[in-house]
Amino acid sequence: MNPSKPSTPEPASETPAVGPSNFIRDIILEDLKTGKFQGRVHTRFPPEPNGYLHIGHAKSICLNFGLAAEFGGKTNLRFDDTNPEKEETEYVDSIMDTVHWLGFDWENRLFYASDYFPQLYQWALQLIRAGKAYVCDLTAEQVRQYRGTLTEPGTPSPYRGRSVEENLDLFQRMKAGESPDGSRTLRAKIDMASPNLNMRDPVMYRILHAEHHRTGNQWCIYPMYDFAHGQSDSVERITHSICTLEFEDHRPLYDWYVEQLGIYHPQQIEFDRLNLTYTMMSKRKLLTLVQEGHVRGWDDPRMPTLAGIRRRGYTPEAIRNFCNSIGVSKTTGIVELGLLEHHVREDLNRRAARVMAVLRPLRVVIDNYPEGQVEEMEAVNNPEDPSAGTRQVPFSRVLYIEQDDFREDPPKQYFRLSPGREVRLRYAYFVTCTGVTRNPQGQVEEIHCTYDPATRGGNAPDGRRVKSTIHWVSAAHAIEAEVRLYENMFLTEDPNQGQDFRANLNPASLDVLTGCKLEPSLADAPVLSRYQFERLGYFCVDPDSAPGHPVFNRTAALRDTWAKIEKREKGK
Ligand code: ATP
Ligand code: MG
Repeated sequence: MNPSKPSTPEPASETPAVGPSNFIRDIILEDLKTGKFQGRVHTRFPPEPNGYLHIGHAKSICLNFGLAAEFGGKTNLRFDDTNPEKEETEYVDSIMDTVHWLGFDWENRLFYASDYFPQLYQWALQLIRAGKAYVCDLTAEQVRQYRGTLTEPGTPSPYRGRSVEENLDLFQRMKAGESPDGSRTLRAKIDMASPNLNMRDPVMYRILHAEHHRTGNQWCIYPMYDFAHGQSDSVERITHSICTLEFEDHRPLYDWYVEQLGIYHPQQIEFDRLNLTYTMMSKRKLLTLVQEGHVRGWDDPRMPTLAGIRRRGYTPEAIRNFCNSIGVSKTTGIVELGLLEHHVREDLNRRAARVMAVLRPLRVVIDNYPEGQVEEMEAVNNPEDPSAGTRQVPFSRVLYIEQDDFREDPPKQYFRLSPGREVRLRYAYFVTCTGVTRNPQGQVEEIHCTYDPATRGGNAPDGRRVKSTIHWVSAAHAIEAEVRLYENMFLTEDPNQGQDFRANLNPASLDVLTGCKLEPSLADAPVLSRYQFERLGYFCVDPDSAPGHPVFNRTAALRDTWAKIEKREKGK
C-alpha cells in the first residue's frame, strides 16, 4: 500500500475471501507464522496432458488456486508432460480452456515439465558423478523381480557397482539413441532394503524413441514422474506442492532427490482425491468410453469431465462452491453425486431465467377464446432476482401443455387438469377441462377447455382457488426444439464394481425428445445459456443447435414432489 495516500476502505469484493478451513490451510498459516518460505505461498496445478480434466481435478484446482489467492500468493499451471506416448496438444488446449472457465488464472506462469528436460539431464549427470545413480541393463520385468516385496528386501542389480565413468558413458549413449527402448534405465542408488519400495533404486530415466508433443524427436530418454516432479517444483520455487494421497509413499523420494541435488526444497503435502458416487474418474477409462463410442466425446454432457459438465450447463460457481464444501482430508472417502447437483441447483436457482417449455406436448383448445386473438401475458423472469424483470409471453386459443398435466382418470391427490377440473395456466387464466377429442385408436389427441376472462393474470376476483398451476406454450408461437435428458451414466454407486466397468453403464442415460415446444423468447438463446424450464428443471443450450433447430440439455431436474407421491402410492 502507498503510505502517502490516505487509506480508503477496500470494496468488499476485493477483500480476499477467507477459504474453508482445512489441514493444508493450517500448514500454510503455520509456515507464514514461522517464515518458513519467507511469507511466500506459491502452488502449482500439474495436470498430465493425457486426457480432459474431470470433476476430481476441480478439487485440486480450487485448492491450489484458492489457497494461493487467499494468501496473496501465486499458482502456476504446469503440464506434467514426461510421457510422450499418451500426451497430446488437444489435451493441453482443453486443460487451459477449462482452468480459465473455472475462474482461475495462472497469468504468465505457464510451464511444462518438458521445459526442464535439459536441466533434469544435467541433474542426472550430477547424481551419477556423485555415485548416486547408475545405468542398469535389467529389463522392466527383471527390475520388478529384483525389487522384492513389502516383506522381503530387494536384490541389488548386478549393474549397481558400475563405475562413475562407465555410467556417464552409458547414460550419454542412451541419450544419443544407441540403445533400443526398454534395454536400459538410469536408476537412483538408494537402498534395496528400504521398507519403502519407492526407495529401492527407483528408475529415473527410461528409453523411449517416441515423438513428444513439444520436444519432438529431440529426446529418446524421458525422466520418470518422480525424478521430474520435485525438481520442477524446485525450479519454480513452489512452496506447497499439493498432491493426492497415492503420492504419500513417494514423498521420501521427492525429498531425497532435492536433498541430494542440494536445490531449493518445496514441501509436498498429500490430500484425499475426490470420488463421487455413480461417477468414473479414471482418465484411462473415460478415454475407453470415448474411443468405444459409449458417449459422443470427451464433452458429452454425461461425462464427469469439466468439458462435459460445462456443456451440461453446470456453472463454474457451482463447482467451486461444491469443492469448497467437500473438505480436504487425509482419508479417502466418497462424496454423494447429489451434493454436486445440490450446488448446481442452488446456483442456477439464483441466476437462471425462468421460461415455459413443454417437453411432451398435448394440444389444448380453449373453445370460448376468440379465434385469432393473441394476448401478451407478463411473466416474471426470475422470482429470486427482481432485477431480471419481466417478459411478454403470447397466449392464444390453442396451446400445448405437458401430457403429464392431464389425466382422464385422475388418481387421488392428482390436482392437475382432468375433466371438469379447473386449474390455473401460469401468468394467464383459469381454465376448466370440458372434454377430449380422440384419435381413431381411442387415445386422447386434444383436450378442450373454457377459460374465465375474469381471471386474467391468474387470479379470480371472487377469491376462488385452484389447486394447481400448470405451464403452457401458445401453439402458433411455439419454437420446436430437441431436448436431451440425462440420467447417471452408471447404474452402480461404484462404477468400478465387478469385472468390467462397462457392464455398469446405464443404457438409459440419454433420452432424446424431439418436437418439444418452447415459448418464443427462446428463439435466439445463445449456446450454453441456461434456463429454468418452469416445473421441469434446468436446461442449457447445446452447441449442436442450428438456426431453427435449438437443442437443449437438461442440466438438472427440479425436485419432483409428484414422483415422491407416486412412489408412496405405489408402495401402498
Ligand atoms: P487419473 O488417475 O484420472 O489419470 P491423474 O492423477 O493421473 O488422474 P493428473 O493429470 O496427473 O491426473 O492430475 C493433475 C492433478 O490433479 C494432480 O495433482 C492430481 O493429484 C489431481 N487429481 C487428479 N484426480 C483427482 C481427484 N479425483 N481428486 C482430487 N485431485 C485429483
Ligand atoms: Mg497423474
